[in-house]
Amino acid sequence: MKAVFLDKDGALADDLPYKVEPQRISLCSGAGPALRLLSRLDYRLFVVSNQAGIAFGRFNEGDMETVHDRLQDLLFREHLTLDGFYYCPHHPDGSVGAYACDCHCRKPMPGMLLQAARDHGIDLRSSWMVGDILHDVEAGNRAGCRTMLIDNGNETEWRLGPRRIPTRMAPDLYAAAVLIASHGDMA
Ligand SMILES: [Mg+2]
Ligand SMILES: [Zn+2]
Repeated sequence: MKAVFLDKDGALADDLPYKVEPQRISLCSGAGPALRLLSRLDYRLFVVSNQAGIAFGRFNEGDMETVHDRLQDLLFREHLTLDGFYYCPHHPDGSVGAYACDCHCRKPMPGMLLQAARDHGIDLRSSWMVGDILHDVEAGNRAGCRTMLIDNGNETEWRLGPRRIPTRMAPDLYAAAVLIASHGDMA
């Protein structure tokens, strides 16, 4: 089985300051058609999201359940199913003891993708990581996936490196899906 791993804030959903208020979460423009195209090509869909706000005490894991429910609801309305929702609650400088640590799940580390692959039997080499910053790209590359950078202005540092080169770049999620679809045809 193959998958598309989606960064939540800025790739799948609009990146807003109040990220856990369910009513304010909305899918990025074109997300429905994009993900239906990928779903028709038998890609399973996963969210992999850094949520350091938990480590800083701004919200908690219960809030993430609400966010997960909201995303499932929005995707259901688009006739889509989310196969898994993974988030990293950690940050090394966090203020909430249990979450203030270095971990293997916070992107650019690949832990969430590796866990999803184990949980769901995903072949990482035929899968894609899609995100809006180079930490997403690095996490995908470290996991052995193909990688897609949605170049929508959210990456501002452009710290490049050998693991931070995306396979492809696209201006938005729909263009990304079309590129993934055509990339598969060429392989
Ligand atoms: Mg993002
Ligand atoms: Zn983590």
